Amino acid sequence: MSLIQDSSRAEPDNAFSNLTVRCMDCGHTFAATRPLTACPDCGGLLDAVINTSWPIDRDTFGTALPPNLAQSGVWRYRALLPAIPDQYIVTRAEGRTPIYWDDRIAQYAGVASMGLKHEGHNPTASFKDRGMTVGMSHAKAVGARFVACASTGNTSASLASYAASANIPALVLIPEGKISGGKLAQTLAHGALVVQIEGDFDAALALLRQVAADYDRYQVYLVNSVNPFRPEGQKTTVFELLEQLNWEVPDVIALPGGNLGNTAAFGKALTELYETRLIGRMPRIATIQAAGAAPFAAYYESGWDHFAPVQAETIATAIKIGNPASTARAMRAIISTGGVVTSVTDDEIMDAKAEIDRVGIGCEPASAASLAGVRKLVASGEIKPGETVVGILTGHVLKDTDAVTAYHLGPDSEYRPMANRPVSIPATLDALEKVLSRHAL
Ligand SMILES: *Cc1c(COP(=O)(O)O)cnc(C)c1O
Ligand SMILES: [Zn+2]
Repeated sequence: MSLIQDSSRAEPDNAFSNLTVRCMDCGHTFAATRPLTACPDCGGLLDAVINTSWPIDRDTFGTALPPNLAQSGVWRYRALLPAIPDQYIVTRAEGRTPIYWDDRIAQYAGVASMGLKHEGHNPTASFKDRGMTVGMSHAKAVGARFVACASTGNTSASLASYAASANIPALVLIPEGKISGGKLAQTLAHGALVVQIEGDFDAALALLRQVAADYDRYQVYLVNSVNPFRPEGQKTTVFELLEQLNWEVPDVIALPGGNLGNTAAFGKALTELYETRLIGRMPRIATIQAAGAAPFAAYYESGWDHFAPVQAETIATAIKIGNPASTARAMRAIISTGGVVTSVTDDEIMDAKAEIDRVGIGCEPASAASLAGVRKLVASGEIKPGETVVGILTGHVLKDTDAVTAYHLGPDSEYRPMANRPVSIPATLDALEKVLSRHAL
C-alpha cells in the first residue's frame, strides 16, 4: 500500500476542497483528490466544476497572480479554471498566441474577414500545451507516479515536456510508425518512455485506459482528453481569443476535430463566458474533420441519431481518429452554440495548408482543416460571406515537414498549381537573371 493511495482515501484536505468533477450523464460529483477519467458510478465523461456565479469581469483576468503564473496565457484565466493550489502548478508560459489577419486567407475562404489564431506558437508548438499545464498540475497535486498518454504525436510531445518540467516520469503509447518524425523527436528528446503499439491510436488509448482505471495498482495518471482537467486549459484558447477581439464575439470559430477534446473545451468555455455575462451571445463552433476520419460529421448529419466509429485514414495525422473519446461532450458544444460539423478531403486540407504556408503563416496539415472547412461552408451557404470568422491553427508547420516536401516536391507536385518546386540552373549570372525575370510579381 502506497502513501499516495492512503492519502487518497483520507478526508480531502483543504487544498482540494474546491476541486470537483461532475458526470455529464448522471450528474454525480466527486472530489478530484485522485485521477478520474470516467464516472465511478456510470462510466460517463466527467467535467471539472467551475463556479460561474461569483462576480467575474474583464478586469478579473491576469490580476493577483504569483510571478510564475503571470507569464502564462492559461493561468491568466484562473478565475474560470480548476482551483489547483499554486505550489502544484506546472507551467511553461503557454498560450498568448497571435491572431493573424490576412486578406488572401479571407479571400480563399470566401469571407470579408478571417483571422487565424495560431496555437503553433506554444512551447511545444501545438495547442496541447494549454491543456497539459492544467493536467500536469493536477497530476502533481495528486502525487501521480507516472503520467501517460496515447497520442497521434502532439500530446506526447507536450506531455514529455511538461512531465520533464514537473520531474514526473512520462509514458507514451504511440501507434507504430504512424506519427510524424518531428513529434516523435520532441517526445524522445524530452525523455519520455515511448512504447510503440502494434495497432492504431484507438487501440493505444483503449489499452492505456485499462491501466489508468486501476490507479491503486499502477498509479498511472492518464492525460488524454478524457481527463477532465486538460479541456479546462484548452478553454483558454477561447478566453484569450475573445479578449484579443476586445470581447466582440465573432460569428464563427472554426477548428479541426479529431478526438474532439478541443471542440468540447470550446463549448464549455463559451457556456461559462455566457453564464458570467462576459459575452452576450454565442459564436457558432464549426468543427471540421478529415473525410477519412469523420464519424462526428456523419453523426451530425444524421441529426445526432446514429454514431458509428470508422477506420480512420487521412494525411492529417493529428486528426486521424476513428472513435473520438469526447464525442458526447463535443455534441453538447455543437448544440449549445448552434454550431456545425463538416468534413474535407485530404486534397482540400493540403491546398488550404499550401495557402496558409504561402502567405507566410504556416501550420501542420490538421490545422488547415479549419480554413478548408470554412471555404466549404461558405460555398454551401452555411457561413455567409459577411460573417466574421476565426479559424484555429492547432500546430506549427515544422511539426510535419514530410507532408510539406511531399506536397511541393513529390510525384504529384507538377499537377498542383500551388506546388513550389525548386528551379535548377547553371551557376551563371545570366541563368539567375532569367529566373528572376520570370518570378517578378
Ligand atoms: C490534437 C490535435 C488536433 C485535434 O484536436 P482534438 O481535441 O483531438 O479534436 C488537431 N490538430 C492538431 C495539430 C492537434 O495536435
Ligand atoms: Zn455518472
